[in-house]
Amino acid sequence: MRTSTEHPLSIRFFTSPMDRFVRALLVACCLSVWIPEHRVRAQDALAGESLAGESLDNDSVYFQVRFDEAAMHRVWIEASYPTKGAKELRLMMPVWTPGSYMVREYARQVESIAAFDKESPLKCVKSDKNHWVVSCENTQRVTLRYTVYGREMGVRTNWIEEQFAFLTGAATFLIPQDGLDRRCVLECVPRAGWGQIATSLSVLSTSPWVRTAKNFDELVDSPVVLGSIDIQAQEISGVPHYLATVPSEGWDTKKAMADAAKIIKIEQEFWGEVPYPQYWFLNLLTEAGGGLEHDNSTVLMASRWTQKQRSKYVDWLGLVSHEFFHTWNVRRLRPKGLMKYDYNQEQYIQELWIAEGLTSYYDDLFVVRSGLSTPKEYLERVSKSIQTVQNSPGRQVQNLLDSSFDSWIKFYRPDENAANSRVSYYVKGAILGMLLDVQIRLGSEDKHTLDDCMRLLWQRHRATGYSNEDFSNIVRELGGKPLGDWLDEQLGSTQELDYQPFLDAYGLMWKASESSKEVPQESGASSGVPKMATAGQIGLEMSNLAGRTQVDKVLRGFAGSRAGVQVGDEIVALGGYRVTAEQWTDRVGMLEIGQQTTLLVARRGKMLELGLDLASVPQVDSAPSWNLVRVEKPTPEQEKRWGAWLGLPSLAVPGVEASGTK
Ligand SMILES: [Zn+2]
Repeated sequence: MRTSTEHPLSIRFFTSPMDRFVRALLVACCLSVWIPEHRVRAQDALAGESLAGESLDNDSVYFQVRFDEAAMHRVWIEASYPTKGAKELRLMMPVWTPGSYMVREYARQVESIAAFDKESPLKCVKSDKNHWVVSCENTQRVTLRYTVYGREMGVRTNWIEEQFAFLTGAATFLIPQDGLDRRCVLECVPRAGWGQIATSLSVLSTSPWVRTAKNFDELVDSPVVLGSIDIQAQEISGVPHYLATVPSEGWDTKKAMADAAKIIKIEQEFWGEVPYPQYWFLNLLTEAGGGLEHDNSTVLMASRWTQKQRSKYVDWLGLVSHEFFHTWNVRRLRPKGLMKYDYNQEQYIQELWIAEGLTSYYDDLFVVRSGLSTPKEYLERVSKSIQTVQNSPGRQVQNLLDSSFDSWIKFYRPDENAANSRVSYYVKGAILGMLLDVQIRLGSEDKHTLDDCMRLLWQRHRATGYSNEDFSNIVRELGGKPLGDWLDEQLGSTQELDYQPFLDAYGLMWKASESSKEVPQESGASSGVPKMATAGQIGLEMSNLAGRTQVDKVLRGFAGSRAGVQVGDEIVALGGYRVTAEQWTDRVGMLEIGQQTTLLVARRGKMLELGLDLASVPQVDSAPSWNLVRVEKPTPEQEKRWGAWLGLPSLAVPGVEASGTK
């Protein structure tokens, strides 16, 4: 209905006598909308009274959020800022949010912004993309009213609808540019039927809907979920932990909380310290994916069907493990360049391979160490990560330091050429962490592990932040100087990773997966079995676009690239016969390596026949198409180290402590 969408601030544009009459009516209506009972109560508190014994000083910033237009994905916000006698108030909205290193321009979703001294309009001018200047001479407090459109389902954006709302601080709140240290009070006015609020923000009064943050950093760092939420609580190490699921139909939050508790315990033990007063897992089953870490909470997004499928649920447990590990690594233990957030611009750092890569190494590792997944499942995940890196031509183009530095413009903005030009600091960082871990074990005769490095980094650099050099020096200390030098070389170069020490240390080998039709070249040559090509060796990714097979990615150096296939081409036929995207893998598998054939493609409407040469498939390592398995007869030493690595109690031996359990 239009009346509900008409913003009350449109009164600023009424000028005729009739308009002024209408305006008077609207003001009356607006007051009932914008200054309801609870706002008066909170403003009383701001004037010096107290809410539940908490007194608020006049420096605090007050936000009230309303969801009257949730069906239109809009949240109404009224903010109240102290001016402290200033003539102008410069308000800022962040352009990014910590943990997600891309400028997202949150201000693009701000609508209908206007400022008032009580109910008298004040001049409010936008000065750049994310700043507004309010003229406020002789005004004690500026009231700002605006709406924010939120319909981007992601862990670092807003989603507002009638069933529930998810608010990200950076995407919602404007703050005085020089007032980031001000205490913030947030009052949420829920819709009828919304019974719960889930957030790590402290309760201010007897009402759960009024919360407080000690400063803007905490407000930004404390996402809020409102709706009908299934909340399960469990005290672990004397601290309450909550799992809040919405929408919760078909999800067993109790079981998920019990499983998460095992991960929580083992990670608390790993770090040896519980640095938070409470912790919230905000579990949004929205068919989206991903997670975002915060000091005392995390946002998780997954499918509502996650618990129905074992591998998906293990994925979810890995996500829980990953985000919770960040409670220490990157939230409280930060690279120097992130010690103070600058919400106005990018902050360039080269340590994301530690912050994200090593967190990725430990995420699935803690799932297996806590007994929630099997070593076999773990090896399958490690194999996939190795395949991802080894199949990306970009591993030979970009090193890990550059990958981290350019996250703002590259990692978060992948295009069709990404696999050719980039390497992921998550995936390669995790693999490097795994290889480094084993090297530390070998170099210290199993006295030390990467776990010890992480704990030393925490103890020494929590207060000041760390650099890559600080980390390498700890590696030198525990694993020997050559290992620290090796690490520096790995980080700053694109040289191929050597998996052999890793395989030898734990008694592992590569084996073609049973589902794969690929035949390793070496064994094919020796056994006389024809060597068949694989889709992976052609290096094309394609999709079915309204019945047409469109090429989405062309991997540099692979057979498809050498044949001259380009992104956007339509694949019509292989070897003279029509082929669809769904048939591609099977049909390529019928071609012998060494064979010459043709590809018929349509490029911007013109038919082209390209020669596809399978004489020499790309020199990919054996790893990409194979899976890691244990050797048949591991040595006792391999067995001991394997048990220590994965925290397998039956295999752990005296003198070789199971990592992560101390
Ligand atoms: Zn992460």
